[in-house]
Amino acid sequence: MSIAYDYSRETPAAEFLEKPQLLLIDGRRLASASGRTFASINPATEQVIASIAEGNEVDADAAVAAARRAFEGPWRTMRAAERGHILLKWAELLKRHADEIVELESLDAGKPVAAVLRQDFPAAVDTLTYYAGWADKISGDVVSTRDDALTYTVREPVGVVAAIVPWNFPLMIGMWKLAPALACGCTVVMKPAELTSLSALRIGELALEAGLPPGVLNVVTGPGRTVGEALVNHPDVDKVTFTGSPGVGRGIMKGAASNFKRVSLELGGKSANVIFDDADLDAASKAAAAGIFFNAGQVCSAGSRVLVQEAVYDEVVERLTARAKAIRMGDPADRTTVLGPVISEKQMKSILDYVAIGRKEGAFLTTGGERVGNRGYFISPAVFANVEHEMRISQEEIFGPVVSVIKFKDEADALRIANGTAYSLAAGVWSRDIGRVQRFARKARAGTVWINTYGYTDVRLPWGGERDSGLGREHGTAAIENFTEPKAIWMNLNV
Ligand code: NAD
Repeated sequence: MSIAYDYSRETPAAEFLEKPQLLLIDGRRLASASGRTFASINPATEQVIASIAEGNEVDADAAVAAARRAFEGPWRTMRAAERGHILLKWAELLKRHADEIVELESLDAGKPVAAVLRQDFPAAVDTLTYYAGWADKISGDVVSTRDDALTYTVREPVGVVAAIVPWNFPLMIGMWKLAPALACGCTVVMKPAELTSLSALRIGELALEAGLPPGVLNVVTGPGRTVGEALVNHPDVDKVTFTGSPGVGRGIMKGAASNFKRVSLELGGKSANVIFDDADLDAASKAAAAGIFFNAGQVCSAGSRVLVQEAVYDEVVERLTARAKAIRMGDPADRTTVLGPVISEKQMKSILDYVAIGRKEGAFLTTGGERVGNRGYFISPAVFANVEHEMRISQEEIFGPVVSVIKFKDEADALRIANGTAYSLAAGVWSRDIGRVQRFARKARAGTVWINTYGYTDVRLPWGGERDSGLGREHGTAAIENFTEPKAIWMNLNV
């Protein structure tokens, strides 16, 4: 993907960070109703980088009212092509402010700048551009029923959308929700994760500059338990699109039942990356390491279980261990850094707890799994060998740079282990046998299967899983269906 943008100035986000970070409601930046604020912390330094308005139920309510007015008013009735043009202009503004947005995302989430430049930022712009193109291409069908009637369908926007976003890819996952919702003519109240609110607020300002009418996109920062729940339970919200943990997802389904809101959920994963003994072991080990250590393992589709066939097990463990040891961890602002910190102290402790659990369960830690330094939440990339399928480190999502390497005998054994968790988001398979990889791809319980590669996503392809991995799909035409409702129109021709 090549998108031209400029990343040049020394501290491009400084000006934005100096301002108090207010809510964005009805086209205005406002203090929260309670007047309270909370701090945003740079995970690499533990320093406070911004003070953010802490919204509550009152703010959520005001944002929903603004979104409703904008939905009934300018946004829904605007020419579809015009909506598309505004979204394209927004994409242009994002590119113009690339340096600032990339820096904000890196500081706020502890992501290496190099990774944001390569992945998060271009993916967000690509998503916006892709759905801007959809705005005037959403159509219905003329359906043959009977001679005396014209029967056809139209797709109408679902209405006011609550978009609840996690901290691991705030900008990219945020845009996965905003772009299709807005292209379809919906209006949005976005609730970023408390740990990473900054990019949402900045791109919200740029949306106004691009010409998005007030109230079409509102950003209410604050806790999930207040702002998030208020949106989920709100009678005037028509749809919730959520990415986060299965526990919160379950609560969202229950809350949404109050007025039968549409719900789409992208939840966790414990994805298997399966390496057969005829695979290109160099390529497979390289991709397996990237598949778990990218974004410090805080990826829903992380290849957190590497399944390796007996004959090549030791060699793959050795290769993975060498790669883990060689990863360049450090200051996210340094362009050569590959691995940054994890998001928070709480997350760091949880990951270190899992390392202790793995050892206690009898798995063998070949490298890593320790806090590095005493400032910033850095954990050295960890490889567990001799992992048994039933162990907790093989079943539970760690959401950190920890990989479990599990031995298997044959194809049936690999499938049994790969499909043997509560999740079903993604899977990878490595082999030169085309029949085997195809059989695996069909039988794997996963929303995405990668063959002889791992980890790619593209907004043109459906994304999501079932069971503890979620409900519904994002991306591509699936997202257009998520944010529209079909309507059947029957016109009597005998009048
Ligand atoms: P989380 O579920 O705690 O929070 C996600 C969002 O939900 C945040 O904005 C949070 O404030 C909000 N929230 C929290 N409680 C809420 C409530 N009661 N009602 C409404 N909203 C509430 O998850 P997280 O810690 O931000 O992210 C990590 C988890 O998300 C992991 O389990 C990971 O697997 C999953 N995830 C999945 C995907 C995917 O595409 N499937 C992507 C990223 C993360």
